[in-house]
Amino acid sequence: MTLKVEHVTGGYGAIPVLKDTTFAVQAGEIVGLIGLNGAGKSTTIKHIMGLLQPQTGKITVNGLTLAQDLTAYRQQIAYVPELPVLYPELSLKEHLTLTMLAYDLDPQTTWPKAQELLELFRLDKKLDWFPINFSKGMKQKVMIVCAFMTSAKLYIIDEPFTGLDPLAVHDLLAIVQAKKKAGAAILMSTHILANAEQSADRFVLLNHGRVRAQGTLEQLKAEFNLEATSLEDLYVQMSEEAPR
Ligand code: ATP
Repeated sequence: MTLKVEHVTGGYGAIPVLKDTTFAVQAGEIVGLIGLNGAGKSTTIKHIMGLLQPQTGKITVNGLTLAQDLTAYRQQIAYVPELPVLYPELSLKEHLTLTMLAYDLDPQTTWPKAQELLELFRLDKKLDWFPINFSKGMKQKVMIVCAFMTSAKLYIIDEPFTGLDPLAVHDLLAIVQAKKKAGAAILMSTHILANAEQSADRFVLLNHGRVRAQGTLEQLKAEFNLEATSLEDLYVQMSEEAPR
């Protein structure tokens, strides 16, 4: 499995937000998508999800473009959005059932996986509740359970740590590691650099809609010509650079 974003220029209107963006995520790898507010992280993710169309460039998941087969393309991807998307008229149980239908999952084998995740995130007693009335963190957990009960090949998580308590962050990182070990590819956008540094194998640093640098922390340190730095130091240095 490989996600390939190749020379993508795109955004919301005539003036592009993303400019010639190229990076890849391989199977069994966690890649951190890092950048300041407005750098283009969510815009990149919207292009991968097919919510926006590139003006130029190409995105493939396992060699497949969205235009070739929309359903097959989307079923390979599980997505945790930045803000929870919940249906006011559906219970938690119905949200899970709907996700199983959308991903063509066998309920018999998927419900035990869902149950395990629900217990982990302390939502197992709330199946008949309406998530629209949940707390911010609980809503986020519903999105996480829906995404991680699938057997997607690519997981895309947009700012997953916002609103989660430390225990939930710990549990989410453990789930992400388990999916990685099982061979999934994971793209995770975050501002919580300590979590990114701890869990990601490689980083893509976005600045003003361009990939400023990418690689392992060691490679980035070498590229930025800094010694003994953390991801946070690189981030600060990048943020001081003018748009190119
Ligand atoms: P953050 O860390 O704040 O979530 P981000 O890196 O995810 O930032 P994006 O949301 O991708 O940033 O925004 C990149 C640029 O695209 C910004 O200049 C923003 O104003 C613009 N943008 C985002 N959403 C829209 C929209 N719906 N219509 C027009 N422009 C938008």
